[in-house]
Amino acid sequence: MIGSILISGLLVLQGIRPAPEIEQGLLAAGTGFETTVHVTYGDEPGPTVMVIGGVHGNEPAGAEAAGAIACWTIGRGRLIVIPRANVPALDAKTRRIPGLEGDEGDLNRHFPIDPEIDFGSEYGAELWSFIEEREPDWIIDLHEGYDYRERNPDSVGNTIIACDEPEVLAASTLMLESVNATREEGSASFLQLRNPVRGSIVRAACARLDVLGMILETTKKNQPVSFRARQHRIMVHRLLQHLEMQPCDKDRILPHVDAADEFVHVALYDGPGANATAFATLLAGDARFRTRRIGPEAIRNGALDNADILIVPGGSGSRQGRGLGAGGREAIRTFVETGGEYIGACAGAYLGSVTYDWSLGIVDVEVIDRKHWKRGSGIVDVEWMKPGSDQPDLGDGTTGIRYANGPVFAPAHRDEIQDYEVLGVYRSEIALNGAPTGVMPGTPAVIMGSWGDGRAILLSPHLESVQSDPETRRNLLELLPWLAGISPPGSSPESDQ
Ligand SMILES: [Zn+2]
Repeated sequence: MIGSILISGLLVLQGIRPAPEIEQGLLAAGTGFETTVHVTYGDEPGPTVMVIGGVHGNEPAGAEAAGAIACWTIGRGRLIVIPRANVPALDAKTRRIPGLEGDEGDLNRHFPIDPEIDFGSEYGAELWSFIEEREPDWIIDLHEGYDYRERNPDSVGNTIIACDEPEVLAASTLMLESVNATREEGSASFLQLRNPVRGSIVRAACARLDVLGMILETTKKNQPVSFRARQHRIMVHRLLQHLEMQPCDKDRILPHVDAADEFVHVALYDGPGANATAFATLLAGDARFRTRRIGPEAIRNGALDNADILIVPGGSGSRQGRGLGAGGREAIRTFVETGGEYIGACAGAYLGSVTYDWSLGIVDVEVIDRKHWKRGSGIVDVEWMKPGSDQPDLGDGTTGIRYANGPVFAPAHRDEIQDYEVLGVYRSEIALNGAPTGVMPGTPAVIMGSWGDGRAILLSPHLESVQSDPETRRNLLELLPWLAGISPPGSSPESDQ
């Protein structure tokens, strides 16, 4: 029922509304499809644009981008965003609603053009009622293809599928120009297609409600989620500019820090050389975190401004450092220097050291025995140090942690950087591929350093891995609100200091 839309923040109606205002409500409350709707108002009247993400659960960039767009401010008009339109499919990471086959399971086939035909599901009908009630001028539905249309005519990846209306075609041409301008040499262009598929939200809205609509399709193939989500943001941003809605920067991916909400704002790096899957899995479903994937372009463009914590996961440190470029690395150094917190795991720990021309140099630590960096992988013993009052608690005694070619640390003794603190020590080792034995044991596995007003925690092994001790993984999760200065539930307040 449409009555299940609960818009909070009604207080603002009592007086002068501080602009711009963002309200949230629930669609399909109490059902398995329950999902948050974000409404942002500009100061001035103007068009209403609705952005939908996550209709297909195996197309994560749409939901990721819509989650970021839900944090945007506008000067004019109204922006309605449903980032996770198909929660059961997103949770299952499947195109279809789990347990349903064919068009029955495909939410984007539930919207008939003919008013005489029933909607494909109760939820589809509810979503439709919401759209009808909110009377958007534009609907933009964010999707992904499996391959580049330019190279594979069977896929719709890298296209805008526009309703056949002059206004839509004109706007989509501008959006294509804008996203194609960011294209690297040799990569596929975005193309314009027409006539969204029958049964889709956009096709039905164009046909039945006179809404101007289009489906934006990025391409999943060999591109990080952050990159694809940024392409979605670029296209939506260009539309809002075209409609003179005065959107904030396209690389705002988290709510403004002034919003001072109780959430921990986490930027999870998934650019070149980074594998963010394990951290994404660890953070998913924990309501304390607002996690967004971030790539080098957004970092260089100031997107860390609204983050509490940057996590750089495993992968390849050199590829990460080089992918960030000097500008990206400097943006991270400034982020930490001005109070941001950094967590680097394995490759991200190499990145945090002072050792390489591509490293960040924010922790006073050297990587040693570099010749044998490929020491192998497996479970190693890590002994946790008893934490001081200003240190995080990662565990008691010794636990088994997943290790995969992580850095072996020693103090770098740089005068300009404060000495690090040791939070955990290796008590066993892996020494394959010609690595000498006896090097790893006794060296720090986890360290914490200060850089300006922020801190950096470097994890040589993969605490986030499902193969690591479950309690350590839980402690790692608690580290985030601790770093962000938000006390975990049930912990004593900091007033005893
Ligand atoms: Zn799709």
